Amino acid sequence: MQGYQQLRTQRQQQALWRVRSNSETVDPSLNFASNDYLALSRNQAIVSAFQQGLQRWGTGSGGSPLTSGYQGPHEALEAQLCEWLNAEAALLFSSGFAANQSVINLARKQGYQPVLDRLCHASIYAGAGERPLRFRHNDLAHLSQQCAKAEQLNQTAAPLVVTEGVFSMDGDGAPIAEILALLENSNALVFVDDAHGIGCYGEQGCGSVTKEQAASIPVRTITFSKALGLHGAAVVGQKAWIESLVQLAPDYIYSTAMSAAQAFAIQKSVNLVRSESALQTQLQANIASFKQGAAQLKLKIMPSNTAIQPLWVGSNAHAITLSQLLQAQGIFCTAIRPPTVPPNEARLRFTLTNHQRDESYQRLFSSLKNIFDRYPELQEACCGV
Ligand SMILES: *Cc1c(COP(=O)(O)O)cnc(C)c1O
Repeated sequence: MQGYQQLRTQRQQQALWRVRSNSETVDPSLNFASNDYLALSRNQAIVSAFQQGLQRWGTGSGGSPLTSGYQGPHEALEAQLCEWLNAEAALLFSSGFAANQSVINLARKQGYQPVLDRLCHASIYAGAGERPLRFRHNDLAHLSQQCAKAEQLNQTAAPLVVTEGVFSMDGDGAPIAEILALLENSNALVFVDDAHGIGCYGEQGCGSVTKEQAASIPVRTITFSKALGLHGAAVVGQKAWIESLVQLAPDYIYSTAMSAAQAFAIQKSVNLVRSESALQTQLQANIASFKQGAAQLKLKIMPSNTAIQPLWVGSNAHAITLSQLLQAQGIFCTAIRPPTVPPNEARLRFTLTNHQRDESYQRLFSSLKNIFDRYPELQEACCGV
């Protein structure tokens, strides 16, 4: 493979070489790297629904949704999503990555100019072309300037403002109400990726966008791969956007649909998320426990009220060392490094899930204390006022 040795040497020198580690042996209550926020990936009712679905519809959908891959459960799930999320239409994708990339690509094709929050996910950047217009994270004044610039660049294009309900690496959310108010009398549209919000927050777990706001947001992505405990994603919103995706999005047209069994299991998961508010209450209690323990250790946790709680470390090497030392104590948490985050902003990203208990946090914080006693340089990097 051409370039391999150079890639490897360079990345290893910068502590950026990526490796996968098998998480199967990790105790779920000590896994701080999973997006299974509501612990639904092991929910017995959902597992049973999946099994029932397999018996009834088999294992594969057999084709693209435009050939044989659109069956009863796909249709029923789309209808359920519309009702839950107050949307005119919904479209299932095999991944959130494909869904986001498709929406942004479609927008560009139809003459919109995407204007991205700088911290948007890689899947959004993947659709946004070489040099997308960006605004500083959650900075409304800069957003407004960039929208003006978008209109200057292309008089016929309306800006499509792209943001996230919960930012995946920082854990904070976009000020959706303020953004909508800011753009109310302009021709800019808003697209929200709510991969990390759906299921966890909001009324009936509807995520970061309220039912009322939904009417002003023409297009939105959710994933089933995080809080819902399964896999796949959906774009929900105005019929014109959804039907245009069916016409024009290669990721939708030329890719095999998720299995009907899975679409059936996702309906069960959506039902649980809507009806069992205890799932969200438990997650909130976990967030509170974590934050309390982190404050006692004076950890430099970034401002976040969600289940994503990043610990600011700074250097790549420190982030990796800390992650390895925790792993040696049975605690699984991965170091997040550039280019996933900006240079010199390496962090340990703790995700909180309902697999965890108060004992999980006690164990985590006593391990961290122990590590800091042995490695003062790590304490210095991670703790402050
Ligand atoms: C995980 C994630 C995605 C991609 O979703 P998948 O279903 O995992 O492909 C998209 N956007 C954000 C913000 C994410 O964190």
